[in-house]
Amino acid sequence: MKIGVLSLQGAVAEHVRMLEEAGATAIAVKKVEELEDLDGLVLPGGESTTMSKLMHNYGFMEALRQFGQAKKPIFGTCAGAILLANRINGQEDTHLGLMDIKVERNAFGRQKDSFEVELPVAGVAADYPAVFIRAPYIMEVGENAQVLAKYEEKIVAAREGHYLAAAFHPELTEDARMHRYFVEMVKEYRG
Ligand code: GLN
Repeated sequence: MKIGVLSLQGAVAEHVRMLEEAGATAIAVKKVEELEDLDGLVLPGGESTTMSKLMHNYGFMEALRQFGQAKKPIFGTCAGAILLANRINGQEDTHLGLMDIKVERNAFGRQKDSFEVELPVAGVAADYPAVFIRAPYIMEVGENAQVLAKYEEKIVAAREGHYLAAAFHPELTEDARMHRYFVEMVKEYRG
């Protein structure tokens, strides 16, 4: 099982380490050609607008849409979840627009720029240490999507078939259970 981590910006090495701990072979993906033999992909956190520009520049937009449409699992964390969403509150344009969720950027306000809380995440853990950094939240999920976690009534993790989105940063903990959940998803879709 080979899983890539899009390596244009953000906490790439941390995701690679966690995916390997969860039993996958993981690589940092810098070129579109490297998507070819992957079974799944992680879109890391960072700045969604910057990452989106880089994705356009390096030809990743179309390639990743095809990747998703081919039913290969994609896990977006924080800015990565914004990249996946098909609706972004207050703006017309989306980025990949693959997952049926509506997100709001920078949703937790200034005083709460970054924080860590233990959350129950359905199918993952009863006490997952969730690290939020200028995080978005998920305002709505489509009818085929399933809410996995909430914090203060706000949806912070969801799944729709082969797409997984988290508002927090599972790569910045020592807890590989979220990555293990994604590795299981990849196994499932690989057949
Ligand atoms: N605030 C960032 C954005 O809107 C996301 C922050 C993050 O990925 N840690 O893209």
